[in-house]
Amino acid sequence: MSESFLVKSPDDMFIPEEASQEDKLLAKSAREFMDKEIIPISDEIESKKHGLLRELIKKAADLGFTSVGVDESYGGLGMGEISYTVLAEKLFGGQASYGITWNVNIGIGRMPLAYYGTEEQKKRLMPKICSGDYVTAYALTEAEAGSDALGGMKTRAVKQSDGSYLLNGQKIFITNGGISDIYTVFARLDDSFAAFLVEKDMPGFSTGKEENKLGLRGSSTTTLFFDDIKISKENMLYHEDQGHYVALTALDVGRFDLAAAFMGEAKYNLMNAIKYSKERRQFARPIASFGMTQKKLAKAAGQIYAAESSVYRFAGKWEKLCSGLDRTADDYGKKMMNILRVLSEESSILKTAASDILASVVDDELQIYGGNGFMEDYPAARAYRDERVFRIFEGTNEINRAVIAKMLTKQIRSEEHTSELQSH
Ligand SMILES: Cc1cc2nc3c(=O)[nH]c(=O)nc-3n(C[C@H](O)[C@H](O)[C@H](O)COP(=O)(O)OP(=O)(O)OC[C@H]3O[C@@H](n4cnc5c(N)ncnc54)[C@H](O)[C@@H]3O)c2cc1C
Repeated sequence: MSESFLVKSPDDMFIPEEASQEDKLLAKSAREFMDKEIIPISDEIESKKHGLLRELIKKAADLGFTSVGVDESYGGLGMGEISYTVLAEKLFGGQASYGITWNVNIGIGRMPLAYYGTEEQKKRLMPKICSGDYVTAYALTEAEAGSDALGGMKTRAVKQSDGSYLLNGQKIFITNGGISDIYTVFARLDDSFAAFLVEKDMPGFSTGKEENKLGLRGSSTTTLFFDDIKISKENMLYHEDQGHYVALTALDVGRFDLAAAFMGEAKYNLMNAIKYSKERRQFARPIASFGMTQKKLAKAAGQIYAAESSVYRFAGKWEKLCSGLDRTADDYGKKMMNILRVLSEESSILKTAASDILASVVDDELQIYGGNGFMEDYPAARAYRDERVFRIFEGTNEINRAVIAKMLTKQIRSEEHTSELQSH
């Protein structure tokens, strides 16, 4: 039975004001990094200047932003789920192309290894990810397998007599596709699914051209091709027939950390809208003085307050459930999977709510900028374009709502069943 807040109230709750001094400093330095190192070079990022994203991941790594949530013995900084949430929020607002690059790199790209990797895999790869020398990606989607990612999967691994696997197939729309070193790739293996760590130099691996996108233009999105790649068993993640658990756990984390990121982007854009509405004058007054502008700003503030409260509520609960977990233990992945399954529908709720809130905030922001909002010289246009995909990836909002509804109806059925049994 899920511990969803809808059926069981938590006995304590976390709020961001109660963050540790260490997390407050982390938030401050992450925000300063975005304001000083990333946002001023937005045009270069958006034009996909060669090598720039990797350079900027390395800069983030030098400040420890790629090491949070990883045990010290693998080159990490330790720290917990609240620290991770703080970074997810702060390293996004104002430059979503860079934000998504960082987010996928240490989220769905890195988590499968962090949770399910063997000691040898983690010792071999994690220090390079933490130092920013390696970038990661998560490859599930295929041309005919989007929302039905497992059911429609055609990428296939075949076990060889020497214990290795031969991988063939294609993945599409992969974030960090053109800049990564390590790809977590999901494939059919007989009647089940397996997860593999594909390294960029493996013979038979190649990437397609960069996609021409509506938004997140600075981020890397490509097809991946696997042509008879021989993968040793040392590069398999978790158990041979349990790759689907790896895929789903990563999405449980990914949907939540995206919610934190969208909330950060909403805050940034509200601040822009407030600033502009105080500066822009019409009818001899700042447009901020008009009731209809104020209504937009107040609506956004309320939505962001709700998003922030619920994101950190989740973060606090997640960290509490993880307290005492040994990140180096063999069963770390299994234990984390059980925790994340409990939080799964809340992760979907937060992803859909935060993306819808961001959509509303940037739409109103663009309206407040008037005609300037439609011009790429002003920040509202890019935020408006970038936002659109947040309702599509890591499970469309329809699919996430289906997850929520399925879980709720399951709970209601099981409660009815329990009360029926009790009344007999
Ligand atoms: C910029 C970008 C980056 C991405 N990055 C990654 C990545 O790093 N790794 C990765 O693996 N994938 C990635 N994706 C893929 C993304 O997760 C998929 O695009 C998404 O899951 C939707 O799949 P689809 O595009 O095939 O749409 P479809 O599944 O074809 O859906 C089309 C429409 O039908 C609706 N629909 C489908 N099934 C149902 C249903 N059962 N009930 C109600 N409505 C339904 C959908 O909600 C949608 O509106 C990325 C996509 C984009 C655009």
